Amino acid sequence: MSNESLANLLSENRRFAPPAELAARANVTASAYGEAAADRLAFWAAQARRLTWETEPTQTLDWSRPPFAKWFADGTLNVAYNCVDRHVESGHGDRVALYFEGEPGDTRTLTYADLKREVSKAAHALTELGVRAGDRVAIYMPMIPETAVAMLACARIGAPHSVVFGGFSADALATRIEDADARVVITADGGYRRGKPSGLKGAVDEALTRPGTENVRSVLVVRRTGQEVGWTAGRDVWWHELVDRQSEEHSPQAFPAEHPLFILYTSGTTGKPKGILHTSGGYLTQTAFTHHSVFDLKPETDIYWCTADVGWVTGHSYIVYGPLANGATGVMYEGTPDTPHRGRWWEIVQKYGVTLIYTAPTAIRTCMKWGDDIPARFDLSSLRILGSVGEPINPEAWIWYRENIGGGRTPVVDTWWQTETGAMMISPLPGVTEAKPGSAQVPLPGISATVVDDEGREVPDGSGGYLVLTEPWPSMLRTIWGDDQRFLDTYWSRFEGRYFAGDGAKKDDDGDIWLLGRVDDVMLVSGHNISTTEVESALVSHPKVAEAAVVGATDPTTGQAICAFVILRGNVAEDESLAEELRSHVAKELGPIAKPKRILPVAELPKTRSGKIMRRLLRDVAENRALGDVTTLTDSSVMDLIQAKLPAAA
Ligand code: ATP
Ligand code: MG
Repeated sequence: MSNESLANLLSENRRFAPPAELAARANVTASAYGEAAADRLAFWAAQARRLTWETEPTQTLDWSRPPFAKWFADGTLNVAYNCVDRHVESGHGDRVALYFEGEPGDTRTLTYADLKREVSKAAHALTELGVRAGDRVAIYMPMIPETAVAMLACARIGAPHSVVFGGFSADALATRIEDADARVVITADGGYRRGKPSGLKGAVDEALTRPGTENVRSVLVVRRTGQEVGWTAGRDVWWHELVDRQSEEHSPQAFPAEHPLFILYTSGTTGKPKGILHTSGGYLTQTAFTHHSVFDLKPETDIYWCTADVGWVTGHSYIVYGPLANGATGVMYEGTPDTPHRGRWWEIVQKYGVTLIYTAPTAIRTCMKWGDDIPARFDLSSLRILGSVGEPINPEAWIWYRENIGGGRTPVVDTWWQTETGAMMISPLPGVTEAKPGSAQVPLPGISATVVDDEGREVPDGSGGYLVLTEPWPSMLRTIWGDDQRFLDTYWSRFEGRYFAGDGAKKDDDGDIWLLGRVDDVMLVSGHNISTTEVESALVSHPKVAEAAVVGATDPTTGQAICAFVILRGNVAEDESLAEELRSHVAKELGPIAKPKRILPVAELPKTRSGKIMRRLLRDVAENRALGDVTTLTDSSVMDLIQAKLPAAA
């Protein structure tokens, strides 16, 4: 990026105060900011007391060898005990931990007592397979209760898991097995996706023929669909044969707070995925605290649903660890939002009386495209807080979410964080913050973030630059698995002593933070840095546009020219005047400098499996290059369709 800071173009003046009733009963009030600011480490030490420790920590942070942090280092605990057993011991064994909704409509309900039995048996089973503390276990599963059970069983015996998204290919699975040197793979015959069984075990078999996966000695297979599977005698074992016969009693052993809990690979939006390492005590402290405060969780009455896949960090932190540490009742859904119909999600909200929902902007924009009439058919009055994560949420999508899903009543919490941060970092608090559509607003209590320019100087309010985290936080990544040097280079070398997130951001006149997209995606037009997010949000605020992705393509006169790919709303037809209409709309919203040179209506946009737009591929198209790494793309045929749309590229 050049010395010009990001142009600050978008202005958004709508404001939403917290509902009075929510504010009056909020778990966390404005005083938390003051307490954390007065003594950040004492604040986190107090949050750590949400957990049950075998040995209470006396040290909070050891930052003697930055950026390698140790949190609560002399404390010991068992993560699975904290997520399961202690709720049973405190008299909540009958509380539902998970309502499972299968795509075909089958359901299961697991109470905390049920979960304790299942996790205990699975822990014994892994031990019987020879898994010892420190051994890595790969988990390649559909969204079924056994996936959470498997993760918790690994945590219980101190074996770090590496969950690989079930939609990934055999190759992607093989590289992740090799990188983590996994000893056991837990999988299923298949899962249900778009109305039919889709296989998983076959991909495991294929992955295990690849060099580098030889250390896998067992494959534990859950029977979900009943489809035919290949079988390697001596290596493969059925979950129901091995796990079901184990004892329901298992004594959890305590591990040091810094014992590795899991490795998880990033989405790969900007390049080759990185194996992010998280440890136990600090991670669980911050996931529990943020889930408690940002969702204002009342475990006795709330029904919480996070729609993410467990294969992403959101699923780790906010389906499994944070909610279960807090004794929450959660919903887990196996399938896609449009199977068997486009109202499936809203039907689930109505059926379980979901009060807190956590989803991604990509899903919200898809629902906008499908039409307001679909959610309107369901009773969504149980909802009280709506969460968003994964990408900047365009103000128009934010408003649509609040109006059409939240009935115009509910706070929307836009939570910024990353696989690397482990837990939410920047977000409004629903009972405290006056919300601004499209802004993640303020660092959570105990978190220090700011925006700096090229030289690392904090920018004044009203300006843009790079988002950095200025103090260590409990759930921070500890390293990139097996590659300390890449950890230092990627996050800690750009700005001395500060964590570089890789995202552009601006501070508005109130000092609130707006995320502006990846630094790699920022466009440089006639010497001005322009954010992809702002131009996309301007396009989405036009009534004909449902989704947009913009990139800067090399241009002989302006350096880069803005090229916009747009998906039109439901029944809008593409005509001659459309491009000009959208160009002038952007000029009106943001100014002539942000006017796209080209506008291309497309049917789909290239997205990662976690739903993020991969602009680097669109840039390849706009600049007539061969496509870069597409392994984490949902559907590579999307790129053929887009390329076919392009006449002679610039
Ligand atoms: P890779 O690092 O391999 O390119 P990735 O960054 O997409 O992949 P994740 O860790 O899943 O992998 O995503 C984190 C990123 O998602 C953040 O850096 C940010 O760009 C984006 N993000 C997440 N939440 C928000 C949010 N609320 N607002 C804006 N951006 C967000
Ligand atoms: Mg990233």
